[in-house]
Amino acid sequence: MNVIEEILQKQSLTRQDIILLLQTNADDRNKLYSKAAEVKEKYVGRKVYFRGLIEMSNICRKNCFYCGIRAGNFNAHRYNLSDDEVVEAAKFAWESKYASLAIQTGEVTNREFTDRVSNLLQRIHRETNGELGITLSMGEQTEETYKKWFDNGAIRYLLRIESTSKELYAKLHPNNKAHDFDRRVECLKSLRRVGFQVGTGVMIGLPFQTIENLADDLLWIQQMDIDMVGMGPYIEHPDTPLYKYKEVLLPMEERFNLALKMIAILRILMKDINIAAPTALQAIDKLGREKGIKVGANVVMPNITPGLYRNDYKLYDNKPCVDDAVDDCKNCLEARIQLTGDFIGYGEQGNSMHFTKRRSRG
Ligand code: SAM
Ligand code: SF4
Repeated sequence: MNVIEEILQKQSLTRQDIILLLQTNADDRNKLYSKAAEVKEKYVGRKVYFRGLIEMSNICRKNCFYCGIRAGNFNAHRYNLSDDEVVEAAKFAWESKYASLAIQTGEVTNREFTDRVSNLLQRIHRETNGELGITLSMGEQTEETYKKWFDNGAIRYLLRIESTSKELYAKLHPNNKAHDFDRRVECLKSLRRVGFQVGTGVMIGLPFQTIENLADDLLWIQQMDIDMVGMGPYIEHPDTPLYKYKEVLLPMEERFNLALKMIAILRILMKDINIAAPTALQAIDKLGREKGIKVGANVVMPNITPGLYRNDYKLYDNKPCVDDAVDDCKNCLEARIQLTGDFIGYGEQGNSMHFTKRRSRG
C-alpha cells in the first residue's frame, strides 16, 4: 500500500494528509477520486439536486479585486431584473421540477433592496405553491436582514469566505470596513443563529495562494461545521485589479485539477454536506461540472437568468452558457448528468443532510 492509499484508509485526515492529497497526480489522484465517489454514494447517494440560478442584478457596492462586476468596473453594463422577470424565472424552475432556486446579486444593503427581496420571497412562494427551496446569495447583511429574509421563506444562504487566510484575503480586497475578513465570518455565524442552511466556499488557484492555504481552507470549513459548499477555480477578469498577476497564476488545467481535488477531499472530510459543482469548472472544461459530480459534488445550479442579461453577469472570462436559451441548458444538463451515472432529484429540494442531522440534535 502506498502513502496515498494509507491516507485514504484513515478515519480522519491531518493537515499533512490533506496537503499530500492536494499534491497527487495520475494514479494517486484517481484513487482519491474513487474514494470520494464511494463516500458520496454511501452517505448522500447518487442523486444530484438542481438549484435554478437567477442572477438578479449585477449592481454591487463592493470592490473585490477579483470580480468582474465590482463597483469600480465602469465597463460593466449594469442591470437589475424586474420583479416579474424574477418571478417568471422562479416559475420556470418550479414547472421544470427543479424544486430549488438560488438568487444571487451583487451586494446592496439599503432598505429599499432588503424590503424588495422580502416581498419577492413572499411572491415567489405564493406563485409556486410554497414548493421551492430558496437559497439567497446577496453578500454581507445585518443579522436583522438575514432574519427578515429567513422569516419570509429563504432557507439557505451562500456566503463564500473566498480564502480563510487573513493575509491572502487582505490581498484580494480593499482595506476597509466593507471588505473585512472578521465581519464576513461574523455574517456566517449570524446566518447560522438565524436558522439558515449555511453555505460557504473559497476560490482555488488565486494569485499568492499556496497548497497549505487550501488545506487550511478545508479544515476551516470543517471546523465551522458548514452545511453546504460551493467552491471553484479562480478565473481572471481583464477589468479587475487582480488581472495584473495573471503571469503568476497556475495554468488553467492545474487550477481545474486542484478544484476537483478540493471537492473530493471535502467530500471525504464532510460526508453528508451538499457540495455544488460550480459553473467556473465548466468555464474551463466543457465537462467540468460533470467531472465535479463524479468526484463528490451533488448539487448543480443551472442558470435560468433570462438570456438577455446573462452576458452582463460576468464575474470572469469565458462564462459558459451565456448565449443559450434557458431550455437548451435544461436539456443538455439532464443528458450530461445521466452520463455520469447519477440521476437528478426532480421535485426534491435536496436539503443538506448535514443540516437536517444538526437540527435534530438540537
Ligand atoms: N455578492 C455576493 C458575494 O460576494 O457573496 C454574491 C455574488 S458573488 C459574484 C459570488 C461569488 O463569485 C463570490 O463569492 C466569488 O467567490 C465568485 N467570484 C467572483 N469573481 C470571481 C472570479 N474572477 N473567478 C471565480 N469566482 C469568482
Ligand atoms: Fe460584489 Fe460579490 Fe463581486 Fe465582491 S464578489 S464585487 S461583493 S458581486
